[in-house]
Amino acid sequence: MSKTLIIAEHDGSNLNPSTAKCASCAAAIGQDFDILVMGSSVNAIAEQAAAIDGAAGVTVVDAENLANPLAVNHAAEVVALAESYSHILGPSTTYGRDLMPRIAALLGVNQVSDISTVEGSHHFTRPIYAGNAIVDVHAPENVTVVATVRVASWKAAGNSGSAAIETRSASAPASANTRYVGLEAGGGERPDLQSAPRVVSAGRAMASEENFEMVYELADLIGAGVGASRAAVDAGYCPNDMQVGQTGKIIAPDLYIAFGISGAIQHITGIKDAGTIVAVNKDADAPIFEVADIGLVADLFTVIPEMKQLLS
Ligand SMILES: Cc1cc2nc3c(=O)[nH]c(=O)nc-3n(C[C@H](O)[C@H](O)[C@H](O)COP(=O)(O)OP(=O)(O)OC[C@H]3O[C@@H](n4cnc5c(N)ncnc54)[C@H](O)[C@@H]3O)c2cc1C
Repeated sequence: MSKTLIIAEHDGSNLNPSTAKCASCAAAIGQDFDILVMGSSVNAIAEQAAAIDGAAGVTVVDAENLANPLAVNHAAEVVALAESYSHILGPSTTYGRDLMPRIAALLGVNQVSDISTVEGSHHFTRPIYAGNAIVDVHAPENVTVVATVRVASWKAAGNSGSAAIETRSASAPASANTRYVGLEAGGGERPDLQSAPRVVSAGRAMASEENFEMVYELADLIGAGVGASRAAVDAGYCPNDMQVGQTGKIIAPDLYIAFGISGAIQHITGIKDAGTIVAVNKDADAPIFEVADIGLVADLFTVIPEMKQLLS
């Protein structure tokens, strides 16, 4: 039973890229892995999961009460499958952080959080203290490892696989105590901040909610997600779910463009795995230039309109 189960995350139409990142982590653990897709009418998603390189199989549990990502219902299905697996992995996204501790509690084990490297089948590392230290985590070998994978630390596995898909019926009834009421998602059509390959982000220097509009407009021109520093969020220039950093979202886009963000350690910890970091700041000594691949000492209120014009 040295086998890994990955819990797939999806929005009902598409597989979240975090699943392919969990697959890279599972491959590093070095044993076969299956992917579990829970939901209602999720055949298309199961096919996307089956294409992930290295997947040995895809198990689909299709039931009306699994249509929405209620951890109470999803955890019960994972636990029903758990005895066939030595490791159960989920992404360190909002979904995974809600679901995985519940699975761990039901199995009576401690959760391993935020795996960023695999040193052995039961030996992992993860960053702590805003990324200033790396902790070694040794999980006991005689119990199931239930873990979240720090998605910003892993590249997505390829998608040329063709795993077999098996469908099974739900094992547990819907929870009588918890019901799905609705979803209010910000950002509209804009790419999800946590999985967008490009992110445009801005800080306190924006000075108002109205000024932040130009950041959205620029982001839309390049199909980017939009992030912000905590100072911008605290000042009310943009919603809280846009915060990037230690107490916000940890992201790893291919391209991160920061306007008027000083580069405090708590912000940098959220972007240190980004591919290319571009910083625009009018202070040449701003700490963000220490981590930026491309830096521009300039006024963002000049640069953003110029970029918009060039891209339109
Ligand atoms: C426990 C804890 C957790 C935290 N978590 C987070 C977190 O998750 N995320 C986060 O971001 N912060 C976090 N912080 C806050 C963090 O320490 C900083 O205060 C914050 O990141 C600063 O945001 P900022 O860069 O927008 O603002 P500032 O530090 O005020 O920087 C503004 C920058 O804009 C530049 N600027 C001003 N005008 C212009 C202009 N016209 N054109 C170009 N540049 C201009 C300035 O030169 C300056 O560098 C946390 C702090 C603590 C204590």
